[in-house]
Amino acid sequence: MVQTVLVTGGTGYIAGELIDQLLEAGKNVHTTVRHAAKSEPRLRGRWPDAGERLKVFQADLMSDAGWAEANAGCDAVAHVASPFPLAVPRNKDELIVPAREGTLRALRFAKEAGVERFVQTSSAAAIAYGQPEKDHFDHTDWTRIEAGVPPYIESKTVAEKAARDWVAENAPEMVFCSVNPVAVFGPVVNDDLSTSIEMVKLMSDGSIPAIPNMGISVCDVRDVAKTHAAALDAPADLVRNERFPTATKFMWMTEMADALRARAPELAGKVAKRKMPDWIVKMLAPFVPAMKQVRGELGNVRDVSGHHTEEVLGFTFIEPEQTLEDTLRSLVTQGIVKA
Ligand code: NAP
Repeated sequence: MVQTVLVTGGTGYIAGELIDQLLEAGKNVHTTVRHAAKSEPRLRGRWPDAGERLKVFQADLMSDAGWAEANAGCDAVAHVASPFPLAVPRNKDELIVPAREGTLRALRFAKEAGVERFVQTSSAAAIAYGQPEKDHFDHTDWTRIEAGVPPYIESKTVAEKAARDWVAENAPEMVFCSVNPVAVFGPVVNDDLSTSIEMVKLMSDGSIPAIPNMGISVCDVRDVAKTHAAALDAPADLVRNERFPTATKFMWMTEMADALRARAPELAGKVAKRKMPDWIVKMLAPFVPAMKQVRGELGNVRDVSGHHTEEVLGFTFIEPEQTLEDTLRSLVTQGIVKA
């Protein structure tokens, strides 16, 4: 069992839940943040009783500073940090370079510190894109970036491939695996919303008057963290070189809206009921960046299976309707969505 884990990007949605579960399990946690002066008080506020069991280090994916200190004394790394913006950047290297170089930097410093196990937060983005002939995917599938994919998709695919190549060549003794979540929902604990949660917020606060013909595979942040935690502690032979997709079900956005209305009717009054015709999405796409992303997804099914993860790691994921309900309830509790 690992005792001290470095979780990169402690300010993030997934990393926060993972830190929570690791502290709860009695582990010591090191975490990196980009701006310690701003972030450390926030993290201390979330885990006021952690004391010396939580150590915060300043380290950016694009610089060597701080990484040796963050890794010192750790026996495992969960590399969660990666740029995950809502908008598509003008220059795709704004995502690809930190994703790839940040992962290689984290691996290099982990190896130098004698870390034995490294779990990379990859994504279904590295599984289910650039293959128009397919609509069902699992851990054996790889995104084909040569087919032309959006920058974030490319960044996650390139980063996972680079990590696997680097480990094979430079640290074959290291136990490496990836966790590949689909869109992550679930309870939020503050107003710093991850891109996936922004979707539920926009659906629920009346910002979207009609729902586009788009679908998404759903998973729960608690299961994503649990998968990381299980992969950190499982026998080496069970997880070495594995890919662990976290996914429950592919849902059209209209089905997600229906689930929110059915599970939390008193809070879902502003959830749109009308469908947005495809021609409106196409018309808005040149002017509204979010619509540009939606246009590429109109009518697409990307159903990613998480069964492999449940089988290998031995637990069952939370049902998606529960996840969506808990997301909305927490957005209301945090005052982010007004019921
Ligand atoms: P998030 O809340 O936006 O967290 C992203 C984290 O990465 C933040 O802590 C951020 O730090 C950090 N980061 C970004 N650029 C950095 C840089 N140059 N140097 C250091 N840290 C940097 O997003 P999340 O949902 O938790 O995502 C975490 C991971 O899960 C990412 O690898 C993402 O690709 C992956 N993932 C997410 C989803 C999803 O639906 N949420 C699905 C699949 C995979 P700051 O706070 O300083 O910005």
